[in-house]
Amino acid sequence: MRVFTEVLLTPEPWMQDALCAQSDPEMFFPAPGATEAVARARKVCTRCDVRKECLAYALKNGETHGIWGGKTEKQRRAMPRARFCRTCGVSIDGAPVQVRYCPTHRVAARAASKRAYQERRAS
Ligand code: SF4
Ligand SMILES: [Zn+2]
Repeated sequence: MRVFTEVLLTPEPWMQDALCAQSDPEMFFPAPGATEAVARARKVCTRCDVRKECLAYALKNGETHGIWGGKTEKQRRAMPRARFCRTCGVSIDGAPVQVRYCPTHRVAARAASKRAYQERRAS
C-alpha cells in the first residue's frame, strides 16, 4: 500500500501504524507475476497491526492494484464483496443482500424512499 506517497489517498488514522510506510512503498506494488516480490510484501503485512483495517479499506474503495492487508489483487477479487451502509459507511457484511443501510439509517432510508414514492404518485 502506497500510504504516504499516494496523493489521491485520503489519510485515515490507521495509516499511521502502517508497517509498509516504514518499508519501501513500491514493494507493495510488485510487477504482475513477481511471486518472490509478492511474498516479501505479504510477509511484512503479517507483522502489521492494521492489517484488518488496511484490507477493509482496500475492499471498500475497490483498490485494484497492489498488496493490501496481506492480500493480492487476485485474492481480493475472490473475496465476497464487502458491503457498507450507503449513509454512514459502516460494514453491513452479514446482512441480507437486499439491505443497503445499517440499522441506524435503515429506517430513515425507508421513510425517504416511501416519501419519494408518494410524491411520484401524487404528481
Ligand atoms: S497490512 Fe500490509 S499493506 Fe496494509 S498497512 Fe500493513 S503493511 Fe501496509
Ligand atoms: Zn449507516
